[in-house]
Amino acid sequence: MSPKAKAARRVSDPAGQNADAASERLLRPQRLADFIGQAKLKEQLEIYLEAARQRAEPLDHVLLVSPPGLGKTSLAHIIANEMGGGLRVTSGPALERPGDAAAALTALARGDVLFIDEIHRLHPAIEESMYSALEDRRFDVVMGDGAAGAAAVSLPLEPFTLIGATTRAGMLTSPLRDRFGIVLRIGFYPPAELAEIIKRSAGLLGAKAEDEAVAELARRARGTPRLANRLLRRVRDYAQVRHGGKLSHAVAQEALDMLEVDELGLDAMDKAYLRTLLERFGGGPAGLDTLSVSLGESPETLEHYIEPYLIQQGYIQRTPRGRIAAASAFKWAGRTPPAANPTLLE
Ligand code: ADP
Repeated sequence: MSPKAKAARRVSDPAGQNADAASERLLRPQRLADFIGQAKLKEQLEIYLEAARQRAEPLDHVLLVSPPGLGKTSLAHIIANEMGGGLRVTSGPALERPGDAAAALTALARGDVLFIDEIHRLHPAIEESMYSALEDRRFDVVMGDGAAGAAAVSLPLEPFTLIGATTRAGMLTSPLRDRFGIVLRIGFYPPAELAEIIKRSAGLLGAKAEDEAVAELARRARGTPRLANRLLRRVRDYAQVRHGGKLSHAVAQEALDMLEVDELGLDAMDKAYLRTLLERFGGGPAGLDTLSVSLGESPETLEHYIEPYLIQQGYIQRTPRGRIAAASAFKWAGRTPPAANPTLLE
């Protein structure tokens, strides 16, 4: 099973579940004004968009960096809409051959946006051929096989904007990273912003939720809008079937407990991770591969889907020697942290 498919078993999987695709489209913000929170990022983007529009040029290439579910795809839609261009969506792994990239790039009209999700997973040969596409608006591709006499062709491209999305900027090669004029990082959302997102979504779904129910959902949504929306839908189902549609605070709490999402937003997989690190490795340091074997999850699942939130919440730290549990993780488990290592304090 792929790490994505595996992670999708969790209700709190930030990477998405297929059944959610339709309602995700309904809830996806289309204009910058609908994009809630992230004030600094929005202010920057507004300026870049306005400047590009004034010059009647496409926006510079944009790299979006964040854990899954924080709004990268939404921003790609927003940028295309705000620039009045079309949007073509693909992903690093989907571009298998140089011909795939050539097809995607040559289909772009002037001012269009090409969105490449998981751009860190581009095939190295395709990545290299993207350099001239980004810089000089031409795509060099070798046509035909060697035996029949291969010919290098240089395809001209219309002025376009590439938006690359990645969960780990560190996994991008520097020549590729350097070709993005704009790099935007999206951080986890504070509960107040998530509450606004949930209210907006409830309105679009025609669901009536009490403010306290909204606040409860926001607290448990791991700083992630996609999860906030998913919890809203599941809690709405629960309210509809068990409570005649009344989405009160108590109903939200009941439903969230049923979904095993606790007050801190930690789910069963997070808890298994923390317990393993604390109980089997005495709080660490434990290597990613070792943890992966102990938990029966791939290193990629741990690194991309579980650890970012635990790090952001201050439960664990990534160090050169491995993952270590922070004092708050010991506290969470009702354990006493080991006395500080005197050699580290000197
Ligand atoms: P990513 O591409 O980073 O995985 P998405 O852009 O697909 O994330 O976001 C997932 C969902 O979360 C979207 O469909 C949208 O409904 C919601 N969402 C994300 N960011 C925001 C935001 N800032 N304001 C409102 N809704 C948002």
